[in-house]
Amino acid sequence: MPRVLALLFLLCHGLVLALGAGPAGVGSFVFLVAAPLLAGAACLRRARRGRVALDWYAIALSMLLWAGGMAINLVDALGAARADLTPRASLLLYVLYAVPLVFILARARHERPSISLIDASMAALLGVLFFVHTGYFANRIDADTAAMSNVRYMFDIQNLCIALFALVRWLATDTAERRNLFRVLALYALAYLLSAGYINHVASQDSFGAYNDLLIDLPFLLLGVLALRPAPHARFLPSPRLARLVQAGGPIILPLLLLVVGTLVVDHARPLAVAGFVVATLGFGLRSTLLQADLLERQAALDQLARKDALTGVANRRQFDTVLQAEWNRMRRSGAGLGLLLVDIDHFKAFNDAHGHPAGDRCLQAVAAALQANVRRAGDSLARYGGEEFAVIVADSTLDDTVLLAETLRAAVETLALPEGTITISIGASFLQNPGMADIGKLLAEADTALYAAKHAGRNRVAVRTALVAPGAAVP
Ligand code: GH3
Ligand code: MG
Ligand code: MG
Repeated sequence: MPRVLALLFLLCHGLVLALGAGPAGVGSFVFLVAAPLLAGAACLRRARRGRVALDWYAIALSMLLWAGGMAINLVDALGAARADLTPRASLLLYVLYAVPLVFILARARHERPSISLIDASMAALLGVLFFVHTGYFANRIDADTAAMSNVRYMFDIQNLCIALFALVRWLATDTAERRNLFRVLALYALAYLLSAGYINHVASQDSFGAYNDLLIDLPFLLLGVLALRPAPHARFLPSPRLARLVQAGGPIILPLLLLVVGTLVVDHARPLAVAGFVVATLGFGLRSTLLQADLLERQAALDQLARKDALTGVANRRQFDTVLQAEWNRMRRSGAGLGLLLVDIDHFKAFNDAHGHPAGDRCLQAVAAALQANVRRAGDSLARYGGEEFAVIVADSTLDDTVLLAETLRAAVETLALPEGTITISIGASFLQNPGMADIGKLLAEADTALYAAKHAGRNRVAVRTALVAPGAAVP
């Protein structure tokens, strides 16, 4: 449907041109204003559906600015504008049109608003510098024949930059919505580059009101049609490394352009050029700092997550292994005693069968909380060892300390008031001092054997095995 409407639009525009576009091409101007407005409306519609709404809104804003530039020409054609202001005003809008587009192309994913604000400020200053530079030549168009071609080349550079950046981001983006956004933008920008290049360099200078105007419609109609279509399935995806590289390199685009355009205006607008250099440096530095702070924060959160069990919030098996190794090494150096408790919930399968898995999960959380509340001594640590098994490292301890803690934990779980009733745990305790040639595996194996003994002896009890205590001894 959008394709048919686009063809109809072109047909009507062609018809108006064939019938004579009215004085000074007024009829054609109406279409040239309408085309970007329609494309903008399509982007707004897309913004309401898509997840990358801010970017679609930004494209719509660009379209509005371009339509504004053309509307000034229309008013001028109607004889209602001040002829001396028209070129500068429409030029300003054409230059500003690029600012939201450059902003989108420089933006990375998942950025906080302060970083987007820095990007937006750099993009805005870039627009000002570009305008000043282009305006400088535009003012001299009548006196200087080279000025007009200078203005044209500036726009060529602008269009080429947008098309190239959009192409790179399209090829290197890996999330479907954003990939489609850059695809649409790249196709539009390429069409715009070609159409503007042809109009500016090949067609005659006074081209408005001729069939060339149809060429100007094309990129906008293409944008409108593509914006309304759902994102196609990507046939190939970029390598994650390339995607990350382009994403990481994106932020350099704006400062780099600021430096380039700043250098161009250094002769006729020195303070602005200096402002461009300062903002480029500060902006890039500030945004890197904020980004680095974000990354460090995320890294810390991930480290924390990597050590925690998701269900119970206590340390996970990986963290348990690390801590046990560290305590083991410490014990070998200091000669202190090291206790280990393996905790297993009694008849938990039956509990799950009777009350359901979600209730089983809540039970695990309650048991973990009860254990954690009693493992408070500095150096001691609780971890979820497996499904419904927990482990406690009792650092710098004696055999008595270890057994006492185990008994406290057993009693704490037994007195838990769960909606489903009472549950109990069995605990296998092991203890080693001056291990000699023994290894960690021995400490674990002893605790496991003790746990088996506790289960075998009737559950809801603590059993102990140590290198110092005769094998099989059980307390109580
Ligand atoms: P025993 O007294 O001999 O330990 O009997 P048991 O039924 O507890 O036997 P076992 O220790 O082998 O049972 C483990 C059960 O724990 C099986 C599994 O359904 C349950 N389980 C393991 N992880 C989870 C979990 O994350 N959530 C829930 N709800 N249940 C779990
Ligand atoms: Mg078990
Ligand atoms: Mg069990």
